[in-house]
Amino acid sequence: METDCLFCKIVAGDVPAEVVHSTARTVAFRDLNPQAPTHVLVVPRVHQPDAASLAAADPASFAELATSAAAVAAADGHPLDYRLVFNTGSGAGQTVFHTHLHVLAGRPFTWPPG
Ligand code: 5GP
Ligand code: ZN
Repeated sequence: METDCLFCKIVAGDVPAEVVHSTARTVAFRDLNPQAPTHVLVVPRVHQPDAASLAAADPASFAELATSAAAVAAADGHPLDYRLVFNTGSGAGQTVFHTHLHVLAGRPFTWPPG
């Protein structure tokens, strides 16, 4: 755990969040500022700053983000249509530097994204 990391604190239960799913390696909670009817963040229990770092350090946790995301979308009634996003780097919109997979569902999505 990184002492200054918001998502480490949510994983530890030290900062409240609406947790909707958890596994041995992941925790999923609703985004504070949702961009779709379903907007959940799936995070690994281990601290890594971004998706590639996590994949290199702990492939099992990286894989479990995707399977957890599918379970979260299905539980919200969207088993077939959902969007998964890893923002990586501040230029791409990353604001919290603990790997997190955005799960968005429940409205139409356009491409390319904004
Ligand atoms: P990023 O911009 O790094 O890809 O995503 C960070 C996300 O974390 C944002 O969508 C933001 O709304 C969400 N967020 C920031 N602080 C909190 C918080 O304290 N609790 C929850 N549940 N979400 C947060
Ligand atoms: Zn962290």
